Amino acid sequence: MTKADFDWPNLSFGYTKTDQNIRYVWRDGAWDRGTLTADETMPLHMAATCLHYGQECFEGLKAYETRKGDVVVFRIEENARRMIRSCRKILMEPPPEELFIEACYRVINANRKYVPPHGTGASLYVRPLTIGSGAQVGVKPAEEYTFLVFVTPVGPYFKTGFKPVSLIVEEKVDRTAPLGVGDVKVGGNYAASLRAGVAARQQGFADVVYLDAKEKKYIDESGPANFFAITADGQYVTPESDTILRSITNMSLVTLAEEMGLRPKRRPVEVSEIFDFVEAGCCGTAAVITPIGSITYRDRKVDYCPDGQAGKHCTELYERLTAIQTGDAPDPYGWVRIVPE
Ligand SMILES: *Cc1c(COP(=O)(O)O)cnc(C)c1O
Repeated sequence: MTKADFDWPNLSFGYTKTDQNIRYVWRDGAWDRGTLTADETMPLHMAATCLHYGQECFEGLKAYETRKGDVVVFRIEENARRMIRSCRKILMEPPPEELFIEACYRVINANRKYVPPHGTGASLYVRPLTIGSGAQVGVKPAEEYTFLVFVTPVGPYFKTGFKPVSLIVEEKVDRTAPLGVGDVKVGGNYAASLRAGVAARQQGFADVVYLDAKEKKYIDESGPANFFAITADGQYVTPESDTILRSITNMSLVTLAEEMGLRPKRRPVEVSEIFDFVEAGCCGTAAVITPIGSITYRDRKVDYCPDGQAGKHCTELYERLTAIQTGDAPDPYGWVRIVPE
């Protein structure tokens, strides 16, 4: 098959148009069969609940071309199940797991020429979303939902290589609240945190580290990515918290850390511990791992990468995970699925 004509290694991490996306509508108690369309816009009732009351959640996963030419996705069932949890939490009708997977496969297949060639560092980003599309003016759940999936080819997140970033601990903005919706992937959490991220970038930081909203004592996560660190005695620690999103990348790194002898531990992580860690990173589908070069907390700063290079544990975790995701290494945990043509 002829691939689209792109400068793959220099593709940005942004939206690029592809041929088709898919929409399924839930109405009168059932999902329809889904419609592939070339239309990048969608007609929407102006009283749709997603527009007024934030009934919206999304997912993000990547498809890669393997050396053999198969197209594979990584732990797609986990994304499907997480979308179900997100929908249930904000009282939306969840697309069933099989329908979620079918939808992703149909869109990937309709856009095979946009799956970046193996070895370019690029991938096909898959973005599923569910919205309340039914009209409602009173504050209550919609009676109609739309599940949509689009794909877009994305370049390597780090154009200049695997580069450590500077973060700042955020104490003036809460991303989410105890007993709120921080543990699900809803758009509202992003709206609530945009101002913190923008302010951090204006000050020259890549993003913020959020603390728990109640005591401002424990690390939660960093914007759209989970936080992890390596302790001086060789443990992989990552926050246990009810107000963070369970990252599938993080779950996978925990498994790989174990394999590397890093004794992974999920536990509350006090912000004061940042001064003792030897390495730290953020993780999520987009960048896989973003090594943290420094964290600024009040008037102190800890520097994990004085030479500007990512630490050896972050680098090894990154290499092991991306090798499995792209089919370059064996997949002993059954994480990878070949997209059936
Ligand atoms: C999506 C997301 C992550 C990363 O999750 P992955 O499953 O690894 O992509 C982390 N934190 C938040 C808040 C997110 O929305």
